[in-house]
Amino acid sequence: MVSRVIPVETFDLVIFGGTGDLARRKILPGLFRRFRSGQMPAGSRVIGAARSELDSDGYRQMIFEAIAEFGGDEVHDKKSLDAFLKVLEYVTIDAKGDGGWSELADLVRQDVVQAFYFSVAPSLFGDLAERLHTYGISNDKSRIVVEKPFGRDLASAQALNKTLATHFDESQIYRIDHYLGKETVQNLMAVRFGNVLFEPLWNNQYVDHIQITVAETVSVGGRGAYYDKSGAMRDMVQNHLMQLLCLIAMEPPSHFDADAVRDEKLKVIRALQSVAPHHIVRGQYDADENGPSFREDVENPRSFTESFIAMRCHIANWRWAGVPFYLRTGKRMSARSSEIAVVFKELGHSIFGDEEGNEGRNILAIRLQPNEGMDLQVTIKEPGPGGMRLINVPLDMTFADALGDGAEDVADAYERLIMDVIRGNQTLFMRGDEVEAAWAWTDPLIEGWEARNDVPKLYDPGSAGPGDAMSLLRRDGREWREIKG
Ligand code: NAD
Repeated sequence: MVSRVIPVETFDLVIFGGTGDLARRKILPGLFRRFRSGQMPAGSRVIGAARSELDSDGYRQMIFEAIAEFGGDEVHDKKSLDAFLKVLEYVTIDAKGDGGWSELADLVRQDVVQAFYFSVAPSLFGDLAERLHTYGISNDKSRIVVEKPFGRDLASAQALNKTLATHFDESQIYRIDHYLGKETVQNLMAVRFGNVLFEPLWNNQYVDHIQITVAETVSVGGRGAYYDKSGAMRDMVQNHLMQLLCLIAMEPPSHFDADAVRDEKLKVIRALQSVAPHHIVRGQYDADENGPSFREDVENPRSFTESFIAMRCHIANWRWAGVPFYLRTGKRMSARSSEIAVVFKELGHSIFGDEEGNEGRNILAIRLQPNEGMDLQVTIKEPGPGGMRLINVPLDMTFADALGDGAEDVADAYERLIMDVIRGNQTLFMRGDEVEAAWAWTDPLIEGWEARNDVPKLYDPGSAGPGDAMSLLRRDGREWREIKG
């Protein structure tokens, strides 16, 4: 097997919002790891640009502290850290005014790969794009990276796409969804399309149903004001769960390149049927001894926003006709766990009769967190004497175990995606039409429950969500998988 590693060219990466939470927690610690493993070519620079009044030395100190707090053990590699801090620069900038832009123009080079990471509120995207253009900083090869939320409905997403399109071509725009940067998510494509075993079974003839769970234990925390206007549907389903659904359900692309993959994902979103109200369960976490209720957290005693949602979806095409896709996501749940489970049908006929243990099904579980990896439940004979007793066991491929030392190098989603931006590889980024199609599916569902004045069901913190979410599957004779942390 030939392994193809695309080299990274020397780059200038400008991080607008370089002093913000995301930059300090994820982007800079991730870049340091890439630097340490030799993936940042000599001469490359990372330029923080934000409102705070700092000079480059002040910024280096801030990032040193951020890496000490949010980085891993690599922080003890003092020599590499010192070298990394030297590649950092900082410019104080006002996205809405003229301050700092000429300085930035002097700093950013035109003869290297340019990437501009918009790690700021989406309301500033237009201002940044325009000034990059006006000050002659960007060129027709520059790349821009934009963060979620990409709009809050179809109209706002279309407006954002239009704003960015004024100055940048779609091939220059990288809409980031860090779920797509996870090792397992890419492995899902490798497993599906790199083996002869799975693809023949990947359809309504053999698959009973698919479950996608993204459970968090955290509350909305300090993001209450934002979250109350958003909710689990906008914050998680429209982007992350939808992307996972696309990858699991899409047809094989003709080859593994950005547009071929994204064309197939788009077809899945467009084939998603609308969801009937009785197939949607919305919930809000209650208070307990560990924390306040959702309504207290968002400081809105009449909030109808959901911190949990479960739904049963259908994809109207030949491959998936009749196969339910159950999605659920929520905050303050029993464990932090993200998983996709492909539950296969029962055997048509068992030669083992009603032997104990013979009720197992094949399940392919793809774990995004914790312990990224996959396992395949298979039925085998229980070892030892006493006749033909069957048991269901996992063929476990936890990456950390299966790949040994290599697993240490498993890059965090952000660092992998940033390196993809530098390489110019858009495969793991959402295209504008995908985002719009996802909103076009989401909007009527939200409008529906708003029109019905639907009140989310309360659920106990530390649980698997409201009881109605259990009934959603039980009615179909199925069960959710246990949420394991
Ligand atoms: P933050 O509030 O911590 O930081 C905002 C940054 O923007 C700061 O560096 C600030 O100086 C800069 N800024 C604000 N107004 C500016 C202006 N007028 N001119 C120049 N700079 C200005 O925000 P954050 O949490 O880092 O989030 C950044 C973006 O990433 C947001 O769009 C957010 O929704 C998104 N995001 C964040 C996270 C996360 O974990 N923090 C996760 C996903 C997406």
